[in-house]
Amino acid sequence: MTYRRKFTPRLAPIHILNHTSSLSSSISHAHATTPLTKLILLALVWLPIFGIVSAIFLLWNSYVTWVDLALLLTFFTLCGYGITLGYHRMLTHKSFQAHPWLKTFLLICGSMAMQGPALHWAATHVQHHANSDEEEDPHSPLKSLWHAHAGWILDNFKPDIQRYAPALLKDPIIVAINNTWWLWVFTGLLIPTAIGGLTAGYFGQSVLLGSFGGLVWGGFVRLFLNQHITWSVNSICHTFGKRSFETTDASRNNWLFGLLAMGEGWHNNHHAFPRSARHGMHWTQPDSSAWLIWIFEKLGLVKDVVLISQHRIKARMASQPDPEPESIILPVPAEQRD
Ligand SMILES: [Zn+2]
Ligand SMILES: [Zn+2]
Repeated sequence: MTYRRKFTPRLAPIHILNHTSSLSSSISHAHATTPLTKLILLALVWLPIFGIVSAIFLLWNSYVTWVDLALLLTFFTLCGYGITLGYHRMLTHKSFQAHPWLKTFLLICGSMAMQGPALHWAATHVQHHANSDEEEDPHSPLKSLWHAHAGWILDNFKPDIQRYAPALLKDPIIVAINNTWWLWVFTGLLIPTAIGGLTAGYFGQSVLLGSFGGLVWGGFVRLFLNQHITWSVNSICHTFGKRSFETTDASRNNWLFGLLAMGEGWHNNHHAFPRSARHGMHWTQPDSSAWLIWIFEKLGLVKDVVLISQHRIKARMASQPDPEPESIILPVPAEQRD
């Protein structure tokens, strides 16, 4: 059974959210929105949606090929793990140390997902963990589900790298890839376009149509899927699902995004043990990102993998009150808050 309940943040009383300007002003950080910034933000949200509409158009006209679908799957996988392994578990939480070549590759794949430069992503996420579902959380569903999903990006949130990720600024690989972010975003669109065009030409078909198909499926549709799946971890996985651990935030374990987001949907586990390289902590919680870390470790490409012992997990479960395993949290309208 699902039900609605009120959620009280750890430090900030819930009534602080009644002050409509309070949260939004702290999120915007008073940074002016230039026309270029607006254009970039609009492109970030609407370009992938345009992509999927274009894809449907192409599908109805029978122009979709196996090459297009292979490009979609390949780049979706590369960019997905670029975010989960590269940006999230390696860069932000230091769940493992990667060989410099693997580190470079993962950060480039993460950049191609067009979710912001590496340092921006990491600083935003550290701020999320430090203030989960409190006033300073960049993307809490306590304001609204849409705000947690993508609205916070349209609010022109600007992360404070100096405050939340200063150590990363000392790493030349991270800084170099961060500073050339647009190059990698462009490369992530160029490669599937080129492969689509070249493959079509090889089989005697229209190079132009092949290139467009590669751009739409390997580029735009892939961006749409990668972005909305990542954003769903911020919105859905702080609203719908089960809780295994009592944490001070609203994080949930959600099986659908456990699968789609390559293990990231076991989000309550992650908030309970943020540095763990494994987010799935039971055999019923598949975590393909953790499986890849295990393979990379066996290949000698990864070391210092942070794992939480079963003893520690069981001890924590035994010492906590009922973490409300079946409940759903929905944002409470201002007039109904205490
Ligand atoms: Zn979270
Ligand atoms: Zn995290």
